[in-house]
Amino acid sequence: MTQPIVFMLDVAPADAPEPEGGWAATVHRVPDGQPSLMATELSATRGDGVFETLGVIDGFAQAVDGHFWRLANSAQLLELPAPNLEQWRAAMQIAAAALPTDRQGGVKLVLSRGVEGSGVPTGWLIATTTSGDFPSRRDGWKVVTLDRGYRHDLSEKAPWLLPGAKTLSYAVNMAALREAARRGADNAIFISSDDYVMEAPQSTVLLRRGNTLITPKTDIGILPGTTQLSVFAVAGEWGFATEDRLVAASDLFDSDGVWLLSSVMLATPITEIDGRAIAVDRDLTDRLNDALLARRE
Ligand code: PLP
Repeated sequence: MTQPIVFMLDVAPADAPEPEGGWAATVHRVPDGQPSLMATELSATRGDGVFETLGVIDGFAQAVDGHFWRLANSAQLLELPAPNLEQWRAAMQIAAAALPTDRQGGVKLVLSRGVEGSGVPTGWLIATTTSGDFPSRRDGWKVVTLDRGYRHDLSEKAPWLLPGAKTLSYAVNMAALREAARRGADNAIFISSDDYVMEAPQSTVLLRRGNTLITPKTDIGILPGTTQLSVFAVAGEWGFATEDRLVAASDLFDSDGVWLLSSVMLATPITEIDGRAIAVDRDLTDRLNDALLARRE
């Protein structure tokens, strides 16, 4: 990975019109290596904010509408000021344009509650280039299942836990990845305490059963995945049936393929779950990644 490129945003209210100098005048590139945030930023001291990471392929940011819908939804769930999506879109395009076009990249958008006591949100973007080499798309990952510690009806019973919001509080997700590594795996799948498949710490779970592609429904306290939406759209065109539903943990072992889906990694086939081999569908894996890589928006 090359040096990330950081842009600070003069965050505009949701209904503010474009300023005279255009939205570009509200986006400021931070000189490489320069500090850009205050130590009293609530994002840093409390993880109080939301984010999105978009994949950038050949200079084109992917699934932009899906990511902006989720950014606005996350902000609403955290009662943050609604983002001005026109401004964020312009800023995202500036950040994506700063990346080289011969490799895959990503743009992370962050909206935080701001510096403590200021009442003003902070916004910034980080553009990064990946090495362009994703052996996991070919070799797959071994995963372990980990108990998420709450039931699948969390959204109904405890909405204050912010199910469905992509918050900056990812310490639990990172701890789950370390636990997976301790158990000799590459990644993890969270299971609800009443035994339903939820999501992975940084991706959505996809299963194939015959001619049907299945993903856990999102009202069980998980994020709606933008990559999963792209996969269902293309799979529908290929003649697959698609289902969002409750997925029992045992269904993982009764499938014709399991994948983890996310904006930068795309579709990674799962080769093993809790030490048990999982059928790898190479043909569908390649078709999915080719289709995701061919997206132009
Ligand atoms: N679930 C979680 C917890 C995530 O962090 C992510 C992506 O970061 C996803 C699912 C997949 O979302 P997307 O496909 O929009 O990247």
